[in-house]
Formats: sequence, structure tokens, C-alpha cells
Amino acid sequence: MQIINEGSIKLKVPKTGKISKKMEVFYNPVMSLNRDISVLLLDSLDKNNMQIADPLAASGVRSIRFLKELNKGKIKKIWINDYSKNAVRLIKQNLALNKINCKNNKKIKINNEDANLFLLNSSGFDYIDIDPFGTPNPFLDSACKRISREGILAVTATDTSALCGTFPKACLRKYWAMPKRDAIMHETGLRILIRKIQLVGAQYDKALVPIFSYTKEHYMRVFLVSEKGKNKVYEILKQHGDFNNAGPIWTGNLWDKNLCNKIYKNAISHEIFKNNKELLEFLKTIKYESKIDSIGFYDLHDISDKYSIKKLCKKEEIKNKIKKLGHQASDTHFKGEGIRSDIGINKLVDVLKNK
Ligand code: SAH
Repeated sequence: MQIINEGSIKLKVPKTGKISKKMEVFYNPVMSLNRDISVLLLDSLDKNNMQIADPLAASGVRSIRFLKELNKGKIKKIWINDYSKNAVRLIKQNLALNKINCKNNKKIKINNEDANLFLLNSSGFDYIDIDPFGTPNPFLDSACKRISREGILAVTATDTSALCGTFPKACLRKYWAMPKRDAIMHETGLRILIRKIQLVGAQYDKALVPIFSYTKEHYMRVFLVSEKGKNKVYEILKQHGDFNNAGPIWTGNLWDKNLCNKIYKNAISHEIFKNNKELLEFLKTIKYESKIDSIGFYDLHDISDKYSIKKLCKKEEIKNKIKKLGHQASDTHFKGEGIRSDIGINKLVDVLKNK
């Protein structure tokens, strides 16, 4: 074991060279950005007194960061659960390490159950964070059942090879849609994941609307707000469709624009995050791309190959030219060589060919 720092907390985690499911208790330092964004998102919502569930807590890092870093009044009660005895032992040690008293503390409940039983035996939560190793599929049903009205469901998927089309059959089986392995596969995969979660919610008359979505390294992440009602569910289902010979996918918005503004604004002024350049750049890119309602983005290298464009000018220049034509254009967090825009492909090719 070793003691490390993440965000504002200390953490005891297994010493290991390789991040794998076989770790005694799972901890992946690369996922700190996933937790940073969760903290910022919860702080940016107009919600207080939340009942929070962390059903797959592992070392407890996420919950402990919530307890230490969220604005006062955000948490009414937090449930920290893992079916592994070793994990629960470590969660208790990590709470103590951060001077959080969990005995006789009405705000904190530690559980050692199967995540589905834990969720189903509960009376519901305002925030559920499904952050597994691999696919979130085994937990979607109970999470959708127990997310409260206007509650937020957060879902991570690390099985991106299925969602992005390395294994199309695996995607069909697990996510009920055909992926496409091409230049924009990460966005297609994310939209396939969103639709799958929405279909599970639809069964329980819950319309799950994405408010913040992204892919990073080898995972995908989405936050959805749950709205109750049959008509709202139809509105969601109407926005499922094929795109670019893949799908069905979610064709609606990936972000709530105002929330993206707020998250960025909170990040740049937050003690813990204001010097985290990678995080701030990432959130800034999303803030700008969230303003453009387009499905998919343009990969400039891919397009210049396909249309035999010999020399590309700088991305900044290309974006400016697109804007001069009256369209929107921004970078995209999905890819460095990508541009999100509402311009059509033919017009874009003209721009790239300097016509
Ligand atoms: N959310 C954690 C990482 C979780 S790794 C973080 O932010 O660091 C996945 C964890 O889920 C492991 O600790 C594993 O023991 C636990 N787990 C897997 N299947 C489970 C199940 N069915 N019920 C409860 N816990 C489970």
C-alpha cells in the first residue's frame, strides 16, 4: 500500500505497476479527471441537500472527494458501497485518513452489498454514480429504477472497443446498435451509449436527458437528468436514429450549454482546479463546442485524405473562414484535428481548397 494525493484528499491505495481488475482494491490515477468533473458538475447544479449513491466505490476516492470538496449544503447523505470486503475496509481507512468520522455520522453510510441489491433496497437517490470497471450494463436497470425525479444519473463506460466498433458484434449485443470504426467513432460510440441508457430509463417512464458528455483516454462518461413522464420519454425516443451508417444513436444534444459555462467558470476560480491546465483546457473546449448543435464533427486530416486536399491551412484560419461564411465553428474535445461546425461538407471542402 502507498499514500497518494488526489484533489484535496489523501488516499491509501494498493501499490501496483499495472491498472487492472485484479488489483486488490481498484484505483486508477488517470481517472482523477473523471472525479474532478463530477465534483465540478455537482457544484454547478442548482441543487442542495442531495442524497448521493456511490455503488461501486472501490477505495472510496469519489465519495471522500465529494465530502471534502463539494460546497457546503450539497450533501444530505452519501452511501458508499462496494461488494468487496477489502474495498470496504479501505474505504473506512481512507475516511479516517481524511479525518472524516463515519461512526455516528448521519451523513455517511457504508454498505458492503451487491450494487444492484443496494440500489433496489434503497428508497432512491438524487445522484447515482455508476463508475465500474468495464461496461455499466449490469447496473443500468437498478440505477434507472432508483434515480429520483430530476435526479442526476452519471455513467462511465470503459469498454470503448465495443462502442467504437473494434468489435461490432459486441456492440450490437451489449448496446443494441451498430458502431462505426472511423474518424468520428468516439462521438458515435458515446451517442450509442447514451441511447442505450435512455432505452433502459424509458421502460420506467423516465426521460434521461444528457446534460454533460465526453470521452477521454479509454472511457466514456455521461450525466443525464431524469424527467418523469410518458410524453417526455416519447420526445427522447423520437431523437433516436441512424447516422453515418451507424446506430441507432442519440441525435439530440450532448450538453446543457449553460451548465458547461458554469462548470468552466467554477473550475477557473476553484482552489483545487484553477492550476490544472489539462482540466481547464478540456472544459473550455467543451464549453465552446456545446454551443454548436451538430451531430458528429469534421476530422480535417480524414477529409483532406478523402478529398485529396494537398495542403491544409491552420485550424484557427479554417475556423475563421467558416465563421465568415456565417456558420459556427469550434474545436472539439473528441480530437485535436477535429472541428465542430454546422457547415455542410461540400462547403467545408471548398473552404479547405481555398475556393
Ligand atoms: N468508482 C471507483 C472505481 C470502481 S472499480 C473510482 O472512482 O475509483 C469497480 C469497483 O466495483 C470494484 O471495487 C469492485 O469491487 C466493485 N464491484 C464490481 N461489481 C460489483 C457489484 N456487482 N456490486 C458491488 N460492487 C461491485
